[in-house]
Amino acid sequence: MKKIIFATNNPNKLEEVQKMLGSRYQIIGMADAGIDEDIPENEATLEGNARVKADYIYQKLKLPVIADDTGLEVDYLNGAPGVHSARYAGPDKNAEENMRKVLSSLLLVKNRKAQFRTVICLRINEQTHFFEGVVHGSILHEKHGAAGFGYDPIFKPDGFQLSFAQMPLQVKNRISHRGRAVQKLAAFLLRNNF
Ligand code: IMP
Repeated sequence: MKKIIFATNNPNKLEEVQKMLGSRYQIIGMADAGIDEDIPENEATLEGNARVKADYIYQKLKLPVIADDTGLEVDYLNGAPGVHSARYAGPDKNAEENMRKVLSSLLLVKNRKAQFRTVICLRINEQTHFFEGVVHGSILHEKHGAAGFGYDPIFKPDGFQLSFAQMPLQVKNRISHRGRAVQKLAAFLLRNNF
């Protein structure tokens, strides 16, 4: 099995990516790779944050690394909260407050189009590659459902009548921003025999 370090300690993300990449690869989280520092995410773009995280770990371990960054991009808000999605309503990363802030910014607003976008940066053999996954949808008028995390209760993907928080996780993972980015990563790794 080939080892890939994933710049996260989130067990759900680790499991999701391990499942999608299959048994050819062993996905190792930061803690298990012996990295216990919090890598700052201060870049102005999702690409920048993903690259900084991947570079940091690659320089330390010289093993293949993937790092991701995700944002909710709302049309009416010119792409906000975007790269600031986790801390939109303040430094404590409170999902309820973040959703409240988005909903109150869109009160009486007709254009509710939004997308989730994930960028994955892969550092391997001194090369850097980026993979992007997008899911288009809209911001609901109130929260629906209790599954998932983050902005899931207020995001409805196009073509579905349910919010992300009302969907079984397998369905969300198949169509989600992160799922799509990981599918591209998986295809790339296989194609290049990494
Ligand atoms: P991260 O880059 O994966 O840490 O995501 C940054 C922020 O985007 C998170 O703190 C969440 O607020 C939001 N986010 C990322 N992925 C999702 C998702 O799948 N559903 C809802 N919110 C998400």
